[in-house]
Parts: sequence; C-alpha cells; structure tokens
Amino acid sequence: MSTNKTVVIALGGNALLDPNTNGSVAEQIRTVERSCARVAQIIARGYHVVITHGNGPQVGNLLIQQEEAKKLVPPLPLDICGAMTQGQLGYLIQQKLREALARLGIAKPVVTVVTQVRVDRDDPAFGEPTKPIGPFYAERERPLLEQKGYVLKRVGKGAKPWRRVVASPQPKEIVEIESIKALIAAGAIVIACGGGGVPVVREDGRWRGVEAVIDKDLASALLAEELGAEILLILTDVDRVALFFGTPQQVFLDRLSVSEARKYLLEGHFPPGSMGPKIEAAIRFVEGGGERAYITSLEKAGEALEGLAGTEICRGEDPSPTAQT
Ligand code: ADP
Ligand code: MG
Repeated sequence: MSTNKTVVIALGGNALLDPNTNGSVAEQIRTVERSCARVAQIIARGYHVVITHGNGPQVGNLLIQQEEAKKLVPPLPLDICGAMTQGQLGYLIQQKLREALARLGIAKPVVTVVTQVRVDRDDPAFGEPTKPIGPFYAERERPLLEQKGYVLKRVGKGAKPWRRVVASPQPKEIVEIESIKALIAAGAIVIACGGGGVPVVREDGRWRGVEAVIDKDLASALLAEELGAEILLILTDVDRVALFFGTPQQVFLDRLSVSEARKYLLEGHFPPGSMGPKIEAAIRFVEGGGERAYITSLEKAGEALEGLAGTEICRGEDPSPTAQT
C-alpha cells in the first residue's frame, strides 16, 4: 500500500519506558523495541514518518545522577541533560527501528537530530514555573537550593516533599529545521525535538540554553506544521480521549472538531500537564494547515490512521446537527 502522507509520530512516556517495569536498561530497550515494531508497520504502509518523543523519566534519572555525583564531577544543567536524553533515546530508536524495518525488508536510514527550540525570554511561563523535574528534596536542603536560584514547590509529604519546578515556555522556532528537512528529503526517517527540544534563547547574536522544559506535544505540533505534514499522531497510554475522564460519566470520543476541542478544553476536560497540551497541540496543528491529528495508544496507532480507532481532531467547521435541537 502506498500513501504519500507525512505523519509526525509523538511517542509518549510509556512508549519509551513502561512504568509497569523495574525501569532497568534491559526494560528500556525492550520497550523501545516494541514501539519501533509498531512504527515500522506504519512506515511499511507507505507513510513518511518523522518521530518525536518525550524524555520525562530519562531526564529525571539524569538529574538525580547530577545531584548524587556533584561532589565528584560538576553537575550538568538541565539543557545539557535534555540534549543527553535526545542522544540516549535517539540512539536506541535508531538501532531498534532499523532492525524492525530490516525485518520487513525495508532499508531506510534512521537518524537523530539534536534539536534546539527557541523560546522567548519574556514568555510569561518564566514568571510562574509549573513543571516539576528531578529529585525530591528535604526541607533542610531548601535554603541552599533556593540560593542557587531553584524554584521549589511542595509536591508531597514525608521526608522529601520538595521538588524543583521550571517554566514550560511556548516553542517558537525549531533551530535545526532546515537540516531536518534536508534529511527527510534524502529519504531518512528523522527523530527530532526529543523531550520537546532543548529550550534556547537568542541574546545579542548568541544562543543560550535555558533551564526550562518545552512540552513535547506542542513542539511536535510546531515541527509537524513546519514540515507541512498531513497528520500528527500523538501516542500515549490511553486509546481515546474522554470527556469527564475518570468519572462515572466518562465518555470516549471518536472524533472532535477543532471548535469542539477548544470548547471542552476551556470547560476543563483536559488537564494541564497531561491531556491538555495534547489537545492544544492537535488544535494548533490543524489550524496551522494540518489535515488531522490523532490521539491514541501505541497499540491502536495503525488502526487510528485507518480511522478505526483513537480520537481524531479535524477541521470540521460545520455545526453539528444535534446542536440545533
Ligand atoms: P505522555 O507521557 O504519554 O505524553 P501524559 O501522561 O502526559 O502523556 O498524558 C496522558 C494521560 O492523560 C493519560 O494517561 C490519562 O491518564 C490522562 N488524561 C487526562 N485527562 C484525560 C482525558 N480527558 N481523556 C483521556 N486521558 C486523559
Ligand atoms: Mg506520561
């Protein structure tokens, strides 16, 4: 089967490291292997695939390593840790996707681009950091950390209730976009914008990494738009999006127009930090010229592209007939 469509596939946390496992390297590799087998099937159907991914657990572990080893080696800042996870996960995806493609008789290069994403220094998000990252801290560790400029938030109880929070600014520009396009044009399957991309600002002609985390779904939407992709496929751990999620009134949705999506988002059906940014990403992508976006699980990804599973977000300006009754 052949299609000429480009699909940007955003791999969520559990497509890379299954939370039901012990989190070992062997489990990490097994999970990536499973995800790559699914992605390979999509490529085999003729889609031009570009991959983005989250990095939450991986960057969390790296930050713990920085903290625990700081007496031995200088700790690395968040932007460098983010870049490291792009290499780490990109490497594993390159290896496992190549193997999965080879099993299907497809020889295609798979390549990772360490991606910087420009954010605005005056993004209001810097004034109210919300994204918890890295290790948990005890009360007595607080003064020193706050002296370092960390913003801490009480997120739990017990001996270590504090956690660092950083800003989650809007992605404005993908610095390496032209290189990504060139690689795609040369026939490569590109992995880019891992972890939402490394957030950078431009100041007096220089680029500088900042201590922030860009939402990976919003970065994926920007990438998909810049590439002129037809489809944005956001893979997470639910098969479909629901209204009244997790309550007795829960209803799963097969299809949502952009205006319905925005309405339900405003009504609070999709919380920030989980489903909210996915819906926002889908809206931005479709409004920016994309054909449609899907939110589904890795298992249902193939069926979703056929219109047989998942939640589709599409333009559909027509008011629904039921709205008039
Ligand atoms: P990922 O790490 O895969 O990018 P997240 O864990 O941030 O994704 O967000 C996905 C989660 O959002 C789901 O596992 C689900 O628990 C939660 N969620 C919140 N609201 C909804 C909703 N309205 N419909 C479906 N899932 C929802
Ligand atoms: Mg998650």
